[in-house]
Amino acid sequence: MAETGMNRVAGHTRAVRQLKKAVESGRVSHAYLFTGDPGCGKRTLADLFAAALLCEDPDPASRPCMKCPSCRKAAGGNHPDLIHVTHEKQSITVDDIRTQLIASAGILPYEGGRKVFIVPEAEKMNAQAQNALLKTIEEPPSYAVILLLSANPAALLPTVLSRCLEIKLLPLPDRIVEEYVREELRMPDYEAKVIAAFAQGNIGRARLSAENQSFSDRKDRTLTLLRRLKGMNTAAVRQAVRDICADREGIGDVLGMMLLYMRDVLYYKASGDGESLVFTDELTGIREKAGEMSFRKLSDIVEEIELCRSRLASNVNAELAVELLLTAFQ
Ligand SMILES: [Zn+2]
Repeated sequence: MAETGMNRVAGHTRAVRQLKKAVESGRVSHAYLFTGDPGCGKRTLADLFAAALLCEDPDPASRPCMKCPSCRKAAGGNHPDLIHVTHEKQSITVDDIRTQLIASAGILPYEGGRKVFIVPEAEKMNAQAQNALLKTIEEPPSYAVILLLSANPAALLPTVLSRCLEIKLLPLPDRIVEEYVREELRMPDYEAKVIAAFAQGNIGRARLSAENQSFSDRKDRTLTLLRRLKGMNTAAVRQAVRDICADREGIGDVLGMMLLYMRDVLYYKASGDGESLVFTDELTGIREKAGEMSFRKLSDIVEEIELCRSRLASNVNAELAVELLLTAFQ
């Protein structure tokens, strides 16, 4: 991982290149919109870009240097020219925008040539707030740079959208997430691989899984269950259903894990390649299932997992939905 200037972030090469170019050329737009799923790194990248815009390092390519007084203040959350707009209610109100952004944008920067405003969850601005912001975006003071972050840009007014330069953050390749989990979060190889596959290109999600002990417990429990499921009698299946449902919050993780596992079985059955699996430590069980089950049976199970997910989402009785799923394995 490169570690200087704007390259301090994992992946997102295209977005980083775009922002780096703005920092180095000095041609900076007044309004940017960072879009992408929750946890994909919008905030991290916006904070880095803001620090770069305020950095005092004479070489633009090194910005943010993370060493100069300005970078240190930005990292410590106490740079007077870097404002994170916060909100206390469900939505971001016109008062929030007026007091924290518009009023402050009317005052010259305290230190350098720029003042940067970051608005996380920008889709939560109500229409009034967006209209108030629009005036500032249309005629911004020369020093102001506004960074809107949103996982749901469709909720923003077209007039606001049209004034912003979009920085799109796409899901990262598994290999980059895996490297991040291994190196930054210091997880062992096998765990990093499972977490990365589970995170589907999202560093925030990977971080949550890595830092959450119950994720690891759920993984172990799910793998144990998958190993034993075949020969289980009805009473044992019922008990397994109750165990899964007792951890209501964790059902999504369990289903996600089952899905990854069954994809491994399908992949192994088709390719005979045990090295590219997610659950490399489960090779014996995966090989066994690949031998016993037809492609048809395997894809039926994958479908049942998806079906169970949608049943749970539409509030079908959880025990019933999970029991139907486990029966499909038998
Ligand atoms: Zn600096």
